[in-house]
Amino acid sequence: MNLRTPITDIKGVGPKTGEKFVGAGIATAGDLINYYPRTYDDYSGAENIADIKPGKVTLRARVESISTRYARRNLKITTATLVDDNDDKVQAVWFNQPFRERQLKAGGQFYFSGDFKLQYGRYQLSSPKCEAAKDMPLKSDNIVPVYSLKNGLKMSTLKTVITNVKPLIAVLPENLPFDVVADGNLMSHSDAVMEAHFPTSRDKLKQARSRLAFEELYSLILAARMNRDANQRIKARPIKFTLDNIKTFVANLPFTMTSAQRRAAWEILQDFGRDVPMNRLLQGDVGSGKTVVAALAAYQAKVDGYQTAIMVPTEVLATQHAATFANLLSGLNVNVALLTGSVKGKARDEVLEKLKNCEIDIIIGTHALFQPNVEFQNLGFVVIDEQHRFGVRQRQELLDKTGDKYLPHLLAMTATPIPRSLQLTVFGDVDVSTLNELPKGRQVVETKIIMPANRQPVTERVRAELAAGHQIYYIAKLIEEKEDSEKTSADVLYKKVVKAYPGARVGILHGKMPAETKEKIMREFEAHETDILVSTTVVEVGVDVPNATVMVIENADQFGLAQLHQLRGRVGRGDAKSYCFVVQTDGGEPSRRLKEIERSNDGFYLAEVDLAMRGAGEIYGTAQHGDLNLKVANLADTKMIKRASDAAKATIEQLKVQPDYLENYPELQQLINKYQKLTTLN
Ligand code: ADP
Ligand code: MG
Repeated sequence: MNLRTPITDIKGVGPKTGEKFVGAGIATAGDLINYYPRTYDDYSGAENIADIKPGKVTLRARVESISTRYARRNLKITTATLVDDNDDKVQAVWFNQPFRERQLKAGGQFYFSGDFKLQYGRYQLSSPKCEAAKDMPLKSDNIVPVYSLKNGLKMSTLKTVITNVKPLIAVLPENLPFDVVADGNLMSHSDAVMEAHFPTSRDKLKQARSRLAFEELYSLILAARMNRDANQRIKARPIKFTLDNIKTFVANLPFTMTSAQRRAAWEILQDFGRDVPMNRLLQGDVGSGKTVVAALAAYQAKVDGYQTAIMVPTEVLATQHAATFANLLSGLNVNVALLTGSVKGKARDEVLEKLKNCEIDIIIGTHALFQPNVEFQNLGFVVIDEQHRFGVRQRQELLDKTGDKYLPHLLAMTATPIPRSLQLTVFGDVDVSTLNELPKGRQVVETKIIMPANRQPVTERVRAELAAGHQIYYIAKLIEEKEDSEKTSADVLYKKVVKAYPGARVGILHGKMPAETKEKIMREFEAHETDILVSTTVVEVGVDVPNATVMVIENADQFGLAQLHQLRGRVGRGDAKSYCFVVQTDGGEPSRRLKEIERSNDGFYLAEVDLAMRGAGEIYGTAQHGDLNLKVANLADTKMIKRASDAAKATIEQLKVQPDYLENYPELQQLINKYQKLTTLN
């Protein structure tokens, strides 16, 4: 048996179970070993029933009796009486877990761990987790690993099969360089993996998890640093900085740039001057004015004879951006053009021809810009707006467009700020400029959680704002992931809105409409020919209608935090006070997300919370969705990130004097390669 042994050749895995394993992404013994427990149930510190107090408790007890009844449709209640060695008794109760009756055969000894609390007028142990006492690892602190169960795999199967590869875990080679292990005072790789699957004590488990987290972060940071080094070896054509032209651009603006905008512009122009490609992320909250910074840089590129390509995620945004750029650059002799899926036929041919002849200086488009027949004469600068929506592969395709060994300078823009921890790790190869200041006079959007039972504050506010001549967004959430659910959910909301606000002119927008219709609807809203826009999230990014002062988000608890913040950014763009209502789907407690969005207007803070709640892979997902979800490491652990980052730096130095330094660690090399592909912008 070795790490590549097929899962089906391992004892305890029949053909049926084998299929389940493979379907869950566990095809070999190595995969299985790397499938660390999701969490651990800690049954240590069992108490006597006589001593327990409300709160989290752990007991060792015998099941005296257990039964299940139907309370009402869709609710099965299982109740058990537990007795400990002192003959004290307590009730335990589970909801819709009828299997407990099978698991907890009356008479057996079990460990129970759960919340002891008052419900239905009596104190009970509420939905405790249970583990048979005979299954507890001997001489352990009674810590039981819990695996996530994918593809119908059973916990007991996983535990048995993992036990059968124990001999392999015992001889796992070290995968980090010797110096790194010694300097970091780390547990060996083999011991750490063993402890992760078969914990012997809380203390050792903590050390093991820390070692495995270090491993992940170290290789991720190392990969990013190697990407950065690789990037430095690629050539780019420098774009000259000409102060006079920049002054002309600035004088042409209808406002003064904020100092944050100036600083970001300066950083970009500095990068432009170098003969290695810029690889920069411009992050700034919604409304912080990223577009102007990009326009300034694009103007500098044009003056020096280079073309700029600007990629955005939606056609609506592309159209609006094209207008914005034309506006910001009006009178400066810059040719701006639009290339989306709906530019067709002759119009399209003309755009393509002009691009090739350098008669277009700035082209704005969606992924239509990637198509092979789009050729540039002299592409020097690429802007990717709302960066996290584009996959690594697409960036690669676009960057190939220069057709020679020179890469264009790259600026990615995002309104979802990258938490500091991710800047150091996942985005370690990117330089970051931050707009930490909003243009003067911006309003903080007043946000309020609305429970479905009482929508009155919404209707009152909407009526008042309509009367004052302002406009309203209503956002519908997809109800299910069905083919036309997007249309359906928008339609349903549309009807409600029309009924609730008689006399108001209501528009409807959803992703399934043809692009031309979408544009038309957007233009009508911009021109204030409609008062209320009912929409799915297609308005999420970039759309700019300063007269809109109310944003109502239905089923808001089903959106991500970053997305809610983005949506809210569509209002508060003018001088008038603006409001955002986040409507929870069901009654009960407002969700954590809604509380956070109500409490804070700070995109940087919300991004940190989002990261903590969802994990990096969810937020910055690339093609291989979830691959960036670290298995053990916690990106909020700044101390650990610092340690890993210092070690990675030392390794980079070592590699300079000893280029084959990593060759003895093929697994590390493999991991680094994977991360390099996932994280690079090039
Ligand atoms: P985002 O960073 O969300 O992309 P935009 O670039 O769309 O923000 O800018 C939002 C709005 O603020 C636009 O209407 C833009 O014209 C305006 N704006 C940008 N910079 C300034 C500034 N320095 N002063 C006043 N308004 C500005
Ligand atoms: Mg924008």
